[in-house]
Amino acid sequence: MIHPDLFSLSGRRALVTGASRGIGLVLAQGLARYGAKVVLNGRHADALDAAKQQFDADGLKAGTAVFDVTDQDAVIDGIETIERELGPIDILINNAGIQRRAPLEQFQRKDWDDLISTNLNAVFFVGQAVARHMIPRGQGKIVNICSVQSELARPGIAPYTATKGAVKNLTKGMATDWARHGLQINGLAPGYFATEMNEKLVSDEEFTAWLNKRTPAGRWGQVEELVGAAVFLSSPASSFVNGHMLMVDGGISISL
Ligand code: NDP
Repeated sequence: MIHPDLFSLSGRRALVTGASRGIGLVLAQGLARYGAKVVLNGRHADALDAAKQQFDADGLKAGTAVFDVTDQDAVIDGIETIERELGPIDILINNAGIQRRAPLEQFQRKDWDDLISTNLNAVFFVGQAVARHMIPRGQGKIVNICSVQSELARPGIAPYTATKGAVKNLTKGMATDWARHGLQINGLAPGYFATEMNEKLVSDEEFTAWLNKRTPAGRWGQVEELVGAAVFLSSPASSFVNGHMLMVDGGISISL
């Protein structure tokens, strides 16, 4: 039987990590518009409060959860608190991420460690902490934010590329272990979007000219264009999709 409300997230609670700005914030707004009760995570209470005010202004509701996703104890505590005080987490968007740029031969150990810690370790920490609650309930959706760099390298960001490639495979591993418990774990891979992470690239005309030429769609992505894929992967519409990475990149990853 076809589900009567394939894309509805009504009554579902969604935790979005790194939701104080950028892609995380817009995905949280998108999920809320489709009926989810969202919880915004980030490291800074003031930034989350400002994000929450945008929800209030739009007539949407959001809770906040301040914790650093790289700190496993803080993650476990944070997830426990949400589950106890707000209720079960049905959807996790594992979005928090950072970028560091330097030629690989000059790359600093600290930057390498920060990237592994935020972009890879944290996806495991938050995913595992949430899955431990989802597994006994026999359902749950996890969307790991990957990247076009899960598939392709570019100069100056090799360690970021390594983390995002690993997240793609971690997604397959999570799905392999947890699908049997009724969970669905998938990846969403953005191409190039004008967020704070890409501030320098956005103002670099040479880069934009290259990107426009290299991308079949001929432009940067608009962050709102990621919402459809996130809703799909969080909703009943994707009930038999497991371990897949959905590219939302204007075609840059399929064209030379
Ligand atoms: P932004 O830099 O705009 O936002 C990053 C978010 O992550 C902020 O809310 C930040 O909040 C949060 N964050 C960072 N570190 C931590 C931490 N340790 N604990 C909790 N929250 C943290 O980045 P984008 O929105 O551009 O990127 C979001 C995701 O999308 C990342 O995983 C990125 O790799 C991925 N991506 C982005 C692309 C793009 O074109 N922009 C392309 C492909 C993938 P705060 O600092 O307040 O804690």
